Amino acid sequence: MRDLNALLIDELTAHGAALVAFGDLTELPPEVRGGLPVGVCVAVKYPKEVIRGIADLPTSEYFDAYNRLNERLDALVLRGAEILLAEGYAASAQTRERVGAGEDSNSTTLPHKTVATRAGVGWIGKSALLVTERFGSMIRLSSILTDAPLECAAPINESKCGACTVCTNACPAGAISGKLWRVGMEREEFFNAVACRKAAHERAVLGFGGGATICGKCIEVCPYTRRYSEN
Ligand code: SF4
Ligand code: SF4
Repeated sequence: MRDLNALLIDELTAHGAALVAFGDLTELPPEVRGGLPVGVCVAVKYPKEVIRGIADLPTSEYFDAYNRLNERLDALVLRGAEILLAEGYAASAQTRERVGAGEDSNSTTLPHKTVATRAGVGWIGKSALLVTERFGSMIRLSSILTDAPLECAAPINESKCGACTVCTNACPAGAISGKLWRVGMEREEFFNAVACRKAAHERAVLGFGGGATICGKCIEVCPYTRRYSEN
């Protein structure tokens, strides 16, 4: 049998994934991972010019890209699950239809960001976004849960934000406390999601007339994002 890790990476990358990685989820409660031991993290990235374009306010191009990337992610995780099922394993694609945006912690769903940290893709920044060494935060995430015997990466359990205060200072909502994430920490301990949503709603109105709750300032300013977006 062809190496299953490589098969998934090749197939999903060919269809637009920027990152595909594998995480051991067995330290998490079985009920949040559907009793399945492995998470496949799938990420797609925003075009550089779209991220450079939101330095002042969110744009309609950014909102369009956000929607396009979400659609692509759903298609990618469905394709990945199809491959795993065809190989005889259980697989559950964590599409928006199944888990919503997958960005919030609650007792019944497993955030894609958690799968991403278990798969060694990045850490949770002070902004509550997943931050990667390669693309910063200019990505969107989804995931697949499976019992396939995939080789898993070493997880990331600590922040690499260090003393950086760029997103804390830039956030128009004051939603980012500046506290460093470490594994097991609840988002509410360092991030005010209510304040973020309120500001994002207002900034979408200012940026492109509204109809969305989207801001992205903390994505654009992050030095890890800029290292990629400006080159
Ligand atoms: S999306 Fe905007 S309002 Fe929300 S945390 Fe980031 S910078 Fe602040
Ligand atoms: S801007 Fe700095 S503190 Fe905020 S997520 Fe990026 S590296 Fe971390």
